Amino acid sequence: MHFKNIIGQQEIKERLIQTVRENRVSHAQLFFGGEGRGKLALAIAYAQFINCRDKERFTKGDSCGLCPSCIKYNKLIHPDLHFIMPVATNASVKEKPTSRQFIKQWRELLIENEYFVTLNGWYEKIGIEKKQAGINVYDCSEIIRTLSYTSYESEYKIMIIWMVEKLNYQAAPKLLKILEEPPNKTLFLLIAEQHEQIISTIISRTQLIKIPKINDDELIAACMAKLSVGREEAEMVAEIANGNFTEAVNLIKQGEGRKKYFDKFVGWMRLCWNVKVPEIMVFCDEIVKDGRESNKSFLQFGMSVLRNCLVMNYTGQKIVKFREEERDFLERFAPFINQANAAYFSDEFNTAIYHIERNVSPGMVFLDLSLTIAKLIKMAPAKAVS
Ligand SMILES: [Zn+2]
Repeated sequence: MHFKNIIGQQEIKERLIQTVRENRVSHAQLFFGGEGRGKLALAIAYAQFINCRDKERFTKGDSCGLCPSCIKYNKLIHPDLHFIMPVATNASVKEKPTSRQFIKQWRELLIENEYFVTLNGWYEKIGIEKKQAGINVYDCSEIIRTLSYTSYESEYKIMIIWMVEKLNYQAAPKLLKILEEPPNKTLFLLIAEQHEQIISTIISRTQLIKIPKINDDELIAACMAKLSVGREEAEMVAEIANGNFTEAVNLIKQGEGRKKYFDKFVGWMRLCWNVKVPEIMVFCDEIVKDGRESNKSFLQFGMSVLRNCLVMNYTGQKIVKFREEERDFLERFAPFINQANAAYFSDEFNTAIYHIERNVSPGMVFLDLSLTIAKLIKMAPAKAVS
């Protein structure tokens, strides 16, 4: 992975490159930030840059792509590049699962998705969606074993630990020990999304690199270039995706998804307004069939509708991010989103997304949220939805 192929994040790239130029690469760094910002891609590009034998020879601020190290990095098969991911037993790995046993699927997933991968996407790939996966004690023992050998080919051995917040309680002491007394010429690049779940002792032993959202202009450009959509579509997607490229890809892949989302959202709001509990339960049963990733996208979409309604309500602006046929409903719906309830709506939708990410049953999440919406929607002085 070259830095130049990663969407946006120019400031972070420059900062990382500078550490190499000035020979002050910290032995343990934590790349922290929300989903779809390119944390993993940045960590791999950084690792490749560090070990490139011809760095900056052809391109300033990037690895060469042609030296023996880069060639192996491009396929993620460099013998001194190691990955640890949350794993669990599945149909083929019956006991003591380690990342090494899943490395083939990991490389495939990364290359298929240009290094933008999500936890749920990973669980689906290895068929462990419903189990509690984690970075376990077998993996931590393996880290120690692997790092006790000298590096094969490069100056540095690099250990990338993806989603370190999934570190199991029993495994933590082993990892902490090695972070504290790292073997010579070893770099740990840790990646995490949920700050509150990372144990504080890990945070105190690493240098924190905060990865910000991808800015809208860069996200729009990336959607147009990589996903062949027009500017109007890219702008609508960026509005919903909120700096998350994975989310933008999901929205575009679903193609008709946006119209489907919109119709579904309208139907849902009507059910909530009328508190039709049996129909709400049917709606919840249906929506869980779309899967967690799609459920999250739908909720993001819902938040974007609500945000736009609020703006329209208070500024009188027309909603430009929506298509003509959608505006009609929105103009009638907007009065229900106001000062009294907007913050609650936002909190409730965010909490629902948070729970869906953490394996709470999506059916329960949607049912709870529907009943909450039924109450919130009446907090506004306005006419009924027709
Ligand atoms: Zn190179």
